[in-house]
Amino acid sequence: MSYLAKNYNRKKISFKKGKGAYLYTVNGTKYLDFVQGIAVNCLGHANPKLIKTIEDQSKKLWHVSNAFQIPEGEKLAKKLCHKTFADYVIFQNSGTEATEAAIKVARRYFYSIGKPNKNRILCVKNSFHGRTIASIFASGSKKMTEGFGPKVPGFDHFKFGDHKSLKKKINKNTAAIMVENIMGEGGIKVIPDFCLRELRKLCNKKKILLIADSVQDGIGRSGDFFAFEQSKIKPDIVPIAKGIGGGFPIGAVLMNKKVASGMTPGSHGSTFGGNPLAMAVGNTVMDIVSSRKFLNNVKKSSKYFFLNLNLIKQKYPKIIKDIRGRGLLIGIQLYKDQSNFIKKLMDNKLLTIRAAENVVRILPPLNVKKNELDQALKIINKVCRELN
Ligand SMILES: *Cc1c(COP(=O)(O)O)cnc(C)c1O
Repeated sequence: MSYLAKNYNRKKISFKKGKGAYLYTVNGTKYLDFVQGIAVNCLGHANPKLIKTIEDQSKKLWHVSNAFQIPEGEKLAKKLCHKTFADYVIFQNSGTEATEAAIKVARRYFYSIGKPNKNRILCVKNSFHGRTIASIFASGSKKMTEGFGPKVPGFDHFKFGDHKSLKKKINKNTAAIMVENIMGEGGIKVIPDFCLRELRKLCNKKKILLIADSVQDGIGRSGDFFAFEQSKIKPDIVPIAKGIGGGFPIGAVLMNKKVASGMTPGSHGSTFGGNPLAMAVGNTVMDIVSSRKFLNNVKKSSKYFFLNLNLIKQKYPKIIKDIRGRGLLIGIQLYKDQSNFIKKLMDNKLLTIRAAENVVRILPPLNVKKNELDQALKIINKVCRELN
């Protein structure tokens, strides 16, 4: 029996080791891993540079309190700010902590300028911002909040793409709008560039903040370092996690100077957040992923994969309804049953994961090779043929 609580419906498979895009089970079967810990292992498994970083840093220093200076964290924060819109960073350990910190930064800013009633956060209905008590109520999803009441106040919701309801829901107490540029758990739905630009304009007009939850679509996943860069907008606050640690738990919230002014000493903190071991890993991931060359290569892989996926869709129009996403955050929306499709891919040694709206989510490592993409395409094509 398992002593783990039953909050997951786990697949009956476990892995002994990984290498790049591949995972090996305890009995030696090799799988092409296009889940990568849900967009976490952006450099694949057992990346030599990350191994060396961990080895070197683990011999020097793992953890010290944030009561002291942490040079590794200073370095990573500087890199994040130089590469992006941000002026300041707070480190956390996970995505949900990062989104909560983002909410705190937004509220604290209005508090600090004498507008404490401007504290409501407007979110997309059935979005995903993590699993802590505030984050689940931010998502507005019935499934995630069921049984976890009382309802956390301070969140309003609008339907994805419903501009009228979005405008109607903004009132004098709205502090911020929080969106994912590409909804990950929500079914790989992309906010179009012009909508994001309009959203930015709307926030400026109403003097409210824009939070771009980039936990899943950030750190090169979209082909740009941040997905919102394509629309040329600048958010005020950006939570990140998943990819930035390459498999080591790191979260962070990035912010501009204006909103950072509210975060005075003692206003927020974390015991583990930003410790030297985590920061050493983050620095190595950042150095690799933020380079132009690396990101161009993500775009190249993406273009190739989307092109060929669309060819499969044309061949099997009764199976595939839609191909969506950007970069290497890819969704195949099906007419057929999602779970069965994922199982069949797995029977053919390709690992993928579900998302809402009957979407199969595909998350290769960002340094995926062409022959690995070809192998996945071949398996997807085969499963479509068998189900046709
Ligand atoms: C995964 C995710 C989170 C939560 O991250 P955790 O590390 O699981 O807490 C928050 N927001 C988005 C957009 C995510 O994809």
